[in-house]
Amino acid sequence: MKQKTEDDPSRRNIPSPFLVLLLGFFMLVAFVTTAIEDELPRPIKEQEIGINDSNTFSEESANKYLQIILGDHPRVFGLEYHYIKTRDLKELFDSIAQKSILPIHTDWQFVDGYFMFGSPSVYRNLSNVVAVLEGESGFYSNGTIGTSILVNCHHDSVPFAIGASDDGLFCAAMVETLEKLSRRTTKLKHNIIFLSNGAEEMGLQGSHGFLSHPWSKGAIAVVNLDAAGMNGRPNLFQVTDSRVLEAFRRTTSRPMAQSLGEFLFSNRIIPSDTDFRIWRDFGDIMGVDIAFVQWGHIYHTRNDRPELINDGVMQNAGNMLLPLVRDLADYEGLVNRVPRSTAVYFDYMGWFLITFTRSAALAVDIIVVLLGFTTVAYPIWLFGLTPLYWLPYVIASVTAAHLFDFWRSKKTDLDSSMRTIQAMAATRFILSVLLFVLCCFPIFFNVRYLIGTPLFLMSVGSIVSMSVVRYSKVNAWQHLLLEVIVHIPATLFTLSLGTRLLALMIPITGRSASDSPDVLVTIASVAVTVYVVFTVSGIELLFSRKWMWIVLSGISVVCIIIMFIPMNPYRDVNTTQRHTWFHSQVTTYDQNFTVLNSSSGVILAKTDANNIHDALKAIRNSDIYIRDDESHESDNPLNKLQIRETDLRILQEECQDYLYCNLPIFGPRSYTNSLFVSMGPPAHFDHSIQLLNRSCTADVCKLSFEIHGTAHNTITIWPRENITLIDWPFKNSIRSTFRMQGRPVYNIRQNTNTYSAVFPPYELTLDFRVPEMKQADIILDISLNAHKINHPEDFTDHYKQLLEVMPEYMNIATFLSFRSNYVF
Ligand SMILES: [Zn+2]
Repeated sequence: MKQKTEDDPSRRNIPSPFLVLLLGFFMLVAFVTTAIEDELPRPIKEQEIGINDSNTFSEESANKYLQIILGDHPRVFGLEYHYIKTRDLKELFDSIAQKSILPIHTDWQFVDGYFMFGSPSVYRNLSNVVAVLEGESGFYSNGTIGTSILVNCHHDSVPFAIGASDDGLFCAAMVETLEKLSRRTTKLKHNIIFLSNGAEEMGLQGSHGFLSHPWSKGAIAVVNLDAAGMNGRPNLFQVTDSRVLEAFRRTTSRPMAQSLGEFLFSNRIIPSDTDFRIWRDFGDIMGVDIAFVQWGHIYHTRNDRPELINDGVMQNAGNMLLPLVRDLADYEGLVNRVPRSTAVYFDYMGWFLITFTRSAALAVDIIVVLLGFTTVAYPIWLFGLTPLYWLPYVIASVTAAHLFDFWRSKKTDLDSSMRTIQAMAATRFILSVLLFVLCCFPIFFNVRYLIGTPLFLMSVGSIVSMSVVRYSKVNAWQHLLLEVIVHIPATLFTLSLGTRLLALMIPITGRSASDSPDVLVTIASVAVTVYVVFTVSGIELLFSRKWMWIVLSGISVVCIIIMFIPMNPYRDVNTTQRHTWFHSQVTTYDQNFTVLNSSSGVILAKTDANNIHDALKAIRNSDIYIRDDESHESDNPLNKLQIRETDLRILQEECQDYLYCNLPIFGPRSYTNSLFVSMGPPAHFDHSIQLLNRSCTADVCKLSFEIHGTAHNTITIWPRENITLIDWPFKNSIRSTFRMQGRPVYNIRQNTNTYSAVFPPYELTLDFRVPEMKQADIILDISLNAHKINHPEDFTDHYKQLLEVMPEYMNIATFLSFRSNYVF
């Protein structure tokens, strides 16, 4: 071992200010990574495509379909506009079927049904639009069809959103795929079912409804298409049939797929759901789930508009979809069932896809662990390390590393180059141990690649760099360059994943209703930084310690200055603050249907960290706000809304004392920390629960109700003490949502999914076990929560005045909601 001193010019360290340059370089690499991943193909015009070309997707043509599908209003199921657009979509399918060379069968399905989604989810008159491109497997005389590939999108939207990305874009891509494949002259092996389901938002009922369709019986694989964002390239993030994943790999030139997504989704870290769950859990139809995930701040807001979709996004989606569907439809082996996929899959910067089976992944990960340890042993063999030197790099930051290195270098004769090699070996040691530990926990099988892949790339890189350093004389500059270059494959991988993960997490934490989403973002940022820095951790030792503190302090000062520049998170016109409001009236009746009490006002649900604070501020700064010592009631000729401080309250105690705070619920959710503004009731619509029959035999009482509501109702059943619900119209076992005051609470979601001028009443029969001495008393509390959604024409004057004082950056989705509490 040669001893070098810092005075030897060939070994002199790199001056510390160049560290800034290095940081700049990595930031540039991060930018380039994102740019590469976001690269989109050139949109293809219809006239560029030959009349017989069944393989080329046209963005221009798909965008025309998108306009037809979207129209210019939200398409909330149960509303008239939703019905009109469903009809337009059916006509679109029919017009393609008429011109098609191969037979295309279309249907507008109407269906009633229910399923257990936590609690019963009931749908009536639900409509789906279907087109089937006939394949060799064909149609049967009994109405069912042969083996088929199911492609699913949904054409409904959330209230107050056009839903251009969610999910109009994929529906349009699906129509264009159908149109192109209809030009084929030879049949594919399987039929292809193109399903545009009419009710995905708010309960996934549309896809469940399709399972009652005779055509669904032929489905042997599914490609589910949805969105949780806008733009970029869609990500494949759930797989239940690995052969469909393989087809995706074969046919997609720029794949984006991470089984990390599956881990986050199945462990509810991403609190969302898609129809894929229905296919898997209720239909036993396996396949893949694909969604747009960028621009999460647009998702489910008024800005989910077609104008904001970038050129090339549709083309890219189609370039993915058309060949995938065609490949699957010609894939003979799909008829045989295979065990549910446990595939591990990930793309490398969207360039190519790597897939392993679960057992292969374990073997690969163990090999990587061994390789990692080998590359740790290599420098020991080369330079004779003391293993204790490694451990402090667990928390390797430049400062810590240098402080430690300063102390250590007094006791060692190694130069900075060798100390760098030791430090990098330390990192690989830690990663190898971590990966080994993860191998012992099967639950992590599909996320171990997050460590395994960079560790593998770092190990290969380090063998190269250590050999070069050993056999040739490199100075600090050369060594730095060498390490950066040999580790770039690992750095690109971690940067690519890190930037994607942050882009995904930030909008999700933003709409989490947490008071401090920034804490979560900080934790995520630190984790991502550590993850990325791992790949080159150690190279900081090649820099001179001289003036290092100035450089580091300088960078810190810049960070602190940026930190304190005030920024409004809603400054961008496309970034809105999410609001969900319920203009509501709550009426409680006694046994004789006499009104015991009634209150009305607006619930502003807490939906993000600032929305309640900002709404309060807007009210208090507006002219509708009347200070308590003022009195304007006498001179209010224009029926002006007046809000006093006493009309404003943050919901707290009532939520503990009353079932659902005694407020109308949509999906069962907590209103704690939400704002209630007392004001006049919403525009009236008919809603009621009537008792049709009540009879008791022995200790069983049967009660039948007729419920008059709207398209969107939630019924809450709360039996009194010592009374048990023993039967209801649902085959599944009786399951309560939760217990309150020791009594189980049951919820039934009941929708009428397709518009009609009058919604027929819903009949509900419940059986209770009631002790005979209690049979004359009250058996249960039952509440009807009836909602009108997306009905601006029903806003009262006062409600409009309240909406008007809110700043432009708020995205307010509003419901007209009645809750009626009855006892029977
Ligand atoms: Zn969706």
